[in-house]
Amino acid sequence: MITKQKGTYDIFGEEAKKRAYVDEILSTLCAKYNYGYIETPVFEASELFHRGVGEATDMVQKETYDFKDRGDRNLTLRPEGTASVVRWFLENKFYGNLTDPIKVFYNMKMYRYERPQSGRNREFTQWGFECFGCDDARSDAEVISLAYNAYRLLGLDDITIKINSLGDKESRENYRNALVDYLKPHISELCEDCQERFQKNPLRILDCKVDSESDIIKNAPKTLDFLNEESKERFDHLCELLDLMEINYEVDCKIVRGLDYYNHMVFEVVLDDSYALGGGGRYNGLVETLGGPSTPAVGFAMGYDRTLLAMQEKNVRIPIDDSIDLYLLSVSDTEKDTAAYLAQELRLNGFVVETDLLNRSLKSQFKSVDRYKAKFLIVLNDDDLAKNEVVLKDNKTKEEERIKMNDLVDYLDMHL
Ligand code: AMP
Repeated sequence: MITKQKGTYDIFGEEAKKRAYVDEILSTLCAKYNYGYIETPVFEASELFHRGVGEATDMVQKETYDFKDRGDRNLTLRPEGTASVVRWFLENKFYGNLTDPIKVFYNMKMYRYERPQSGRNREFTQWGFECFGCDDARSDAEVISLAYNAYRLLGLDDITIKINSLGDKESRENYRNALVDYLKPHISELCEDCQERFQKNPLRILDCKVDSESDIIKNAPKTLDFLNEESKERFDHLCELLDLMEINYEVDCKIVRGLDYYNHMVFEVVLDDSYALGGGGRYNGLVETLGGPSTPAVGFAMGYDRTLLAMQEKNVRIPIDDSIDLYLLSVSDTEKDTAAYLAQELRLNGFVVETDLLNRSLKSQFKSVDRYKAKFLIVLNDDDLAKNEVVLKDNKTKEEERIKMNDLVDYLDMHL
């Protein structure tokens, strides 16, 4: 038997309904912030992620699904959304005519070759959004507010937003130098990965999972102490705005989101201080890195699957209606043909209708009525049909009503 691949999953049944509910909430919320939907291709030129995400990152070094197609092109399954969205922004030359910010959101499958465990898969979904063209603490605050409201609307009220600032290029460079000087004498005490990170991307050491509790990391210099005046004022303004908007946040100097292109505000969303449910920040350097003109940009990505798990852990009730409106029971050929015709008419009018497609006995069909939790049922009957009538039964009260077939839609409209 061929089975699904490690770290992948099928989505069906109740899980599919839960996701439809979550999708609806998230896209309605995005519309309120005037974000438009975008979907980018599953695979892109490998170079996009190698340059965009960063050659030195774990993601590119160890986690991407890279392959050659039959035309010998180097391709990669997207491991995240931002680089693809920036590619789209550049390819369409939106930077040339930025009278208003460009705001887009996505809900896409991502692919990373990671060790699968609960909340960590090889194929997983991220809901995320990106905003191009504004460089102001107020746009940072708007992005944080959109992320914050998303979790709250999903019933996760206990989330904390952890924020930090890396400052502008100058502040970030000063910090990097100080961190390197500080870590140099301790480097042999850190894990193997961190020793490599030290050479390529020392900021990443701060969000290492292995060393996070070590005193070396705990006592490391803090980015906020290296912000120049302008960057500091900007971060203070952001904190004031978040206070004003009553957003529950904490300043956490360990949040650095080690990718090279981040600057100023970075943030993560955590629940009960456990793993991250999402993360984002300002990435003013990325459009330029990918060959465009310097363009301010900010964004966020929610770990969709982890968020669903968190909703389950917190017993968030997801209203799923798993009952149908009407079951049409039939035995004779005319009854069955009428069932087909009536179902067509009623479904077009918005009702959820089932019929017997298996030529079963009435007794078996009654069992389906219960399994599908039908709110109403009709036992079609040749005598009634000859008079253009049906007997509609309310499956809860067991009351019956004889009505004209032509009145069925109006009657159900009134009673459902
Ligand atoms: P990142 O793009 O790495 O910042 O990830 C953003 C969010 O996506 C994280 O906070 C996680 O919630 C989620 N995430 C990242 N990697 C995975 C994965 N392999 N499986 C499931 N969720 C993930």
